[in-house]
Amino acid sequence: MTKHIFVTGGVVSSLGKGLTAASLGCILENCGLRVRMQKFDPYINVDPGTMNPYQHGEVYVLDDGSEMDLDLGHYERFTHAPLTRDCNFTTGKIYQSVIRKERAGEYLGQTVQVVPHITDEIKAAIDRLCAPDVDVVITEIGGTVGDIESLPFLEAIRQYAIEHPTSECAFIHLTLLVYLAASGELKTKPTQQSVGKLREIGIQPDILICRTTQPMTDEMRKKISLFCNVRPESVIEERDVAHTIYEVPVMLRDEGIHRLVGKLLGIQLGSPDLSAWERIVETVKTARDTVEIAVVGKYIELNDAYKSIYEAISHAAIENGVRVSLRKLSSDKLGPEGVEQALAGCHGILVPGGFGGRGVEGKILAARMAREQRIPYFGLCYGLHMAVIEFARNVCGLTGANSTEIDPHTPHPVIALLDEQQRVTDKGGTMRLGSQPCRLLPGRARSAYGRNEVSERHRHRYEVNNAYRAILTERGMAFTGLHPKTDLVEIAEITDHPWFVSVQYHPEFKSKPTAAHPLFRDFVKAARERAQGGPAGAREPAGGEERQPAARRAASKGKRGPASAAPSAVDAGTPPGLTRPGRPAGAPRAPARRGPCPPPPRRTRGRAGWAG
Ligand code: GLN
Repeated sequence: MTKHIFVTGGVVSSLGKGLTAASLGCILENCGLRVRMQKFDPYINVDPGTMNPYQHGEVYVLDDGSEMDLDLGHYERFTHAPLTRDCNFTTGKIYQSVIRKERAGEYLGQTVQVVPHITDEIKAAIDRLCAPDVDVVITEIGGTVGDIESLPFLEAIRQYAIEHPTSECAFIHLTLLVYLAASGELKTKPTQQSVGKLREIGIQPDILICRTTQPMTDEMRKKISLFCNVRPESVIEERDVAHTIYEVPVMLRDEGIHRLVGKLLGIQLGSPDLSAWERIVETVKTARDTVEIAVVGKYIELNDAYKSIYEAISHAAIENGVRVSLRKLSSDKLGPEGVEQALAGCHGILVPGGFGGRGVEGKILAARMAREQRIPYFGLCYGLHMAVIEFARNVCGLTGANSTEIDPHTPHPVIALLDEQQRVTDKGGTMRLGSQPCRLLPGRARSAYGRNEVSERHRHRYEVNNAYRAILTERGMAFTGLHPKTDLVEIAEITDHPWFVSVQYHPEFKSKPTAAHPLFRDFVKAARERAQGGPAGAREPAGGEERQPAARRAASKGKRGPASAAPSAVDAGTPPGLTRPGRPAGAPRAPARRGPCPPPPRRTRGRAGWAG
């Protein structure tokens, strides 16, 4: 029998409901329960995929290609609960389904209404996660109690609870104790009002979790209990963490949340084994050496925009036993004059994913500096595009090389759209999304993974233009990860460099605090070696599909290789992959088999032009 925990939030947004729900999932899993996690988001977008990161933070991608709220990242990092598109529902997704049914005549004769049709659809979404092998579903309701948008979701969970036996559903409400610095007091009134609002809707919380910067006194606990109609032992303190968010499960376990939940749901629960989490906290507390990583991105002011990346870096820091200090640089403020100074002294440079033209030249400059100054570089998705563009321009001499996303008329579209993407008109859910296989060739990525094939999550439209692979390879870029069927580039490395790896996918979504992603781990390791003044990377030599040692040497020194000294045919815009005479024995054919890019006739117009 699957039981349910509903997590709501009050007083203010951004209280860490996702983190709290994920930590609870972690605790219950470590008590031996089989847990599933789910999030309801009250906004009308069908998914967050079409939203600006400033609006919503990062879009988290699942294996099945669904684009999700970033809280699902917490769920994956804290639990082993499998996540699918059934784990995140927005108002838009619920309405879309109801309206589709209405059009199909499924409600013939009826007036379609919020109650019961929308609420029924929400309850069906909860039921979708119930299964014989699931003990508990934790459902988090996004937004703050009192918002107009979240009402149908709250109404649905209220109904759900009365339609099931008492011991099958529990309500947890997360609130904030407001600290008034002037009087040095913690105030409980906002919490009382938030619970009052919830009770007006018909939901009586069973457990109150109070976020607070200061310790909650017993007296305060009693007061909250009295005014909120929650037993005093069920009023739990959740203090701001001192070191890492991975302390939260330990803290909530120490508050005995598993005992409360076990009692409410009628499940006998022992004490959870959180030793792995305690070790993480200890490592974070005791690490001494610091490495400094520059993150050069467009949405740098907003932490949530690169949430999973920052988390993955922290996992890698834990595994390497170091502290990472992040130097967050806004790419649109990086120009040729300031770049050296801005990046001086950092031990690693990471360029994250992104879209559109703003700030790209700053990212390209950062990639150049990493290559020329042999600073470990990690490019994620757009970060790979930037590395390839930089290499094409400054090592291969392909003046004006670019992505057609940025410059549709570029003479050298080293990054371009797949044919199938040319025909796409809808923006929502139409990118290359989700897990795809990647065959690994010798190089730093393969030595990090320690395997020959991996599967990683994608979220992008544009690809490396296979027509340019030959010239890029000849000058020292190695394509060490390829899609086994489509031959699309998944990984590009610079061979003669301590650690220069860029990937077309998003490894950050697969990193866990208990198991750092191998590429993040090795990137931070290379940065640590640089910080310690050591050789940042004598590992398996990157060879990829083709190797040209002399050209490699030239490439990493930032000089043009011999062949690039006067690549006249290339400069004139002739497709390089087709004109280069000869290729190293055993190297694959230069032009794409099913790649994005037949080389362009010059100066075509718009997207459809040259690839047509
Ligand atoms: N804008 C690029 C594309 O669409 C990269 C996307 C990303 O970094 N996620 O292909």
